Amino acid sequence: MNRTMKAITVYGPNDMRLERVAMRPLKDDEVLVKVEWTGICATDIAIYTGNSSFVKSGEIKYPCRIGHEWSGTVEETGSAVKNFKKGDRVITDNGVSCGECEMCRSGRRFECTDIRSVGTINCWDGCYAEYMYMPECHTYHISDNVSLEHAALAEPLSIALGAVKKYDITENSTVAVIGTGAIALGAAALAGIKRARNVIVIGRKDFKLNAALQCGATHVINSTKEDAVRRVREITGSRGADLVIESSGGADTVNEAMNIAAKRGTVAMPAFYERTLDGFAVDTLVSKELTVKGVMGEFGLVPEAASYLAKGLPVDGMITQRIELEDVPEFFAHAHETGGTRIKAMVRINK
Ligand SMILES: [Zn+2]
Ligand SMILES: [Zn+2]
Repeated sequence: MNRTMKAITVYGPNDMRLERVAMRPLKDDEVLVKVEWTGICATDIAIYTGNSSFVKSGEIKYPCRIGHEWSGTVEETGSAVKNFKKGDRVITDNGVSCGECEMCRSGRRFECTDIRSVGTINCWDGCYAEYMYMPECHTYHISDNVSLEHAALAEPLSIALGAVKKYDITENSTVAVIGTGAIALGAAALAGIKRARNVIVIGRKDFKLNAALQCGATHVINSTKEDAVRRVREITGSRGADLVIESSGGADTVNEAMNIAAKRGTVAMPAFYERTLDGFAVDTLVSKELTVKGVMGEFGLVPEAASYLAKGLPVDGMITQRIELEDVPEFFAHAHETGGTRIKAMVRINK
C-alpha cells in the first residue's frame, strides 16, 4: 500500500519540480480529497521567485508544497469522519488548526496559535497535487449549483470578502475598488451582490476593466486615460465612495484611495506594499475623518464566500487561462512576462 501521487514542490527560488511523492496514511479525522481545480495566485509566484516578504523573513521555508486555492472530490474518509463520503464535492479552509492548543481544545479553532497555512506560512502541503489531506473540521460541502472550477475561487473570494466586510454596504452605498486582480474583481462582485448602488473599478488595462464589468462593476475607470478622482465625484454627485478597497499595492494609489473616499468613508487595504510610504496624504485622512483598515483575510471566511457563489456571484470574467498540472512549471517560469495578460489562471489537476 505504498501509494504515490504527482505533486509540485518549490525547492528554492526558481526551482520548481513536478514529482511523484509518497502518500502518507490518512488520519482518523481526515478526508483525502482528489484535487480537481487549483487557482494560481500571485503569492504562489512570489514564493517561486523568492520575492515574497514571507520567504525573506523566513516564515515560508523551502522546500514548499505551494498552492492554497482549490476544490476537489472526496476519495477516502478517516474512521472518525462523519459528514463526508467518497464522491462529495468539497472546498476547505486555507489554514489547518493544530487541534492541541488551548484555543483548539476550547473549540475556537480559528484562533489556533499554531495554524499551518495551506501552501504558505508554516506550510500544510498545498494543492498543486493530485490529492490533499484535510481534517474534517476544515472541510465544507459545495452547493450543487456551483461548479468545481468556481468553487476553487472561494479562497481568494474569502480575502475579498474580508475587505468588503469592513463597511456595512447598503443600497445607497458607493464602493470603489482600485486594482483589477482576482481579489479586486471578487470584491466588486461581492459589493454588487450586496446591492451597492455604484461599484466602480479603477485600473489601467481595458481588458481587465471589461472583466470587471462582467463581474458586476457598474462603472470602470481607466486611470491612464481619465482622472479617477474626478470621475468618482461625477458618478457620486461629488460625494465620493463610502468604501474604497485599495488592492493594487501601489504607493500612489494609497493617496488616490484617500482622495476618492467620501467624508467619513472607509478605506480597506488588502494589498502588500513591501516598502514604507513617503508622501502619504495624511491631512486628507484627518480632514475627511476617514477610517483606514488593513485586511489580511480572516481565517474562517471560505464557506461564507462559497455561499455567495451559490447565490450566483458573477466570477467567470476573472478566469483568463486554463492549464494542466504538467504545464505548471513552464507557466511559472514565464509568469513575470505574462502578468499583464492574466487575471486568474486555473489548473485542471485530475482529468
Ligand atoms: Zn491566493
Ligand atoms: Zn491549535
